[in-house]
Amino acid sequence: MAHETEWTGGCMCGAVQFQALGNASWVAICHCESCRRHTGGILNAAAGFPAAKVRFNGDPSTYASSPGVRRYFCRVCGTSIAYQSEHWAEDIHLFVGTFDECRKMKPEFHIFAEEHLDWLAISDHLPRFRTTPSAGETI
Ligand SMILES: [Zn+2]
Ligand SMILES: [Zn+2]
Repeated sequence: MAHETEWTGGCMCGAVQFQALGNASWVAICHCESCRRHTGGILNAAAGFPAAKVRFNGDPSTYASSPGVRRYFCRVCGTSIAYQSEHWAEDIHLFVGTFDECRKMKPEFHIFAEEHLDWLAISDHLPRFRTTPSAGETI
């Protein structure tokens, strides 16, 4: 049987590291304002994994950006690491930029495209969901 892929990653200073087993359920580019604020970037990319497949080494801090939401970050260096919500309690969304092999984490679609910054030109042909894939509407 094939060995399960083991992804590794972590923050800038190394105080928080993670392992994620298996394939990501999805990889998406997020344009929401909360991700902008959390990362300081003009967009964010996240990979969904079952929370049971993810293990943290170190002790990430969390911030509740909305009720039921936990945004993980390193309190030492400030790196934004992950997002978790009660809406998808079994999942954790690890930020692609924190993966050691982020080049292999190819996005499949855009989410919260309605909040996309107008001056950012995107030339890919990936589906652009107005909010989330479960809401279903593309723009
Ligand atoms: Zn750190
Ligand atoms: Zn977002």
